[in-house]
Amino acid sequence: QWIFLDEKFVKKEDAVVSVFDHGFLYGDGVFEGIRVYSGNVFRLDAHLKRLFESAQSIMLNIPYTKEELTQLIVDTIRKNELDSAYIRVVISRGKGNLGLDPSSCSKPSVIIIAEVLTMYPKEFYENGIKIASVPSRRNRPDVLSPQIKSLNYLNNILVKLEANQAGVQEALMLNDQGYVTEGSADNIFIVKNGVIYTPPVYLGALEGITRNAIIDVARAKGYEVRESPFTRHDVYVADEVFLTGTAVEVIAAISVDGRKISDGKPGNVTNDLLDEFRKIVTTDGVA
Ligand code: PLP
Repeated sequence: QWIFLDEKFVKKEDAVVSVFDHGFLYGDGVFEGIRVYSGNVFRLDAHLKRLFESAQSIMLNIPYTKEELTQLIVDTIRKNELDSAYIRVVISRGKGNLGLDPSSCSKPSVIIIAEVLTMYPKEFYENGIKIASVPSRRNRPDVLSPQIKSLNYLNNILVKLEANQAGVQEALMLNDQGYVTEGSADNIFIVKNGVIYTPPVYLGALEGITRNAIIDVARAKGYEVRESPFTRHDVYVADEVFLTGTAVEVIAAISVDGRKISDGKPGNVTNDLLDEFRKIVTTDGVA
């Protein structure tokens, strides 16, 4: 396995970063997770746009243009001879001294990893997963924007730990007002009376690229999709609940806080959207 690390390809064993890298010391950096389906890098432009916007927001200068980064991502996939893969792009603040101030970091570090994806087992897709609302809340967007996909994922890690403690596969993260926002690394949708709902991102959710793709395919199929706030109660009484994300794609949640959703099986709308999603992933992107 070849890793792109600071201007060159190195073997996996040699892909090490300094203990003085502020990405390690402080979680100071940004990242993206991207999928490659049969040689097509799914919605790469949207991922790069989000990466550059995250970097802009934290005043991190990515030392490549979007075009150069596109080429480097394609090179990484080719070098590893992968046809379908999960790509992780990490831009950290780079090496500095132990102080918090990023001014001591002269050069950002750029890392691209491509590997075969290990995701949920097949039965989770066939039977759905269990989720639970957890004590930790989504950080307030006016304090730290959820649109910054930073290396500082403690908020998400805490809710994942709480989901593990609750014995379920994924967390349901509420905001400080108790509205449903998203999972630890995926967006949430509910279906009620044929209408599809997802929380508006201003409540405190990352504007997921899979989320947007699902909204697109759902509307193209004639479904009504509304971005509107909802509470746990709305989730409990929904006809269907599903999560979307680069890693999970589309997965049904069949139990929420111990409440069985409908008949406890992945619903028709969820399955329909997963089928449609699978159709676009090999063509919508950079080949
Ligand atoms: N929400 C969070 C907090 C995430 O980290 C992710 C993963 O990137 C998502 C949602 C899903 O976004 P996407 O569909 O772009 O992978």
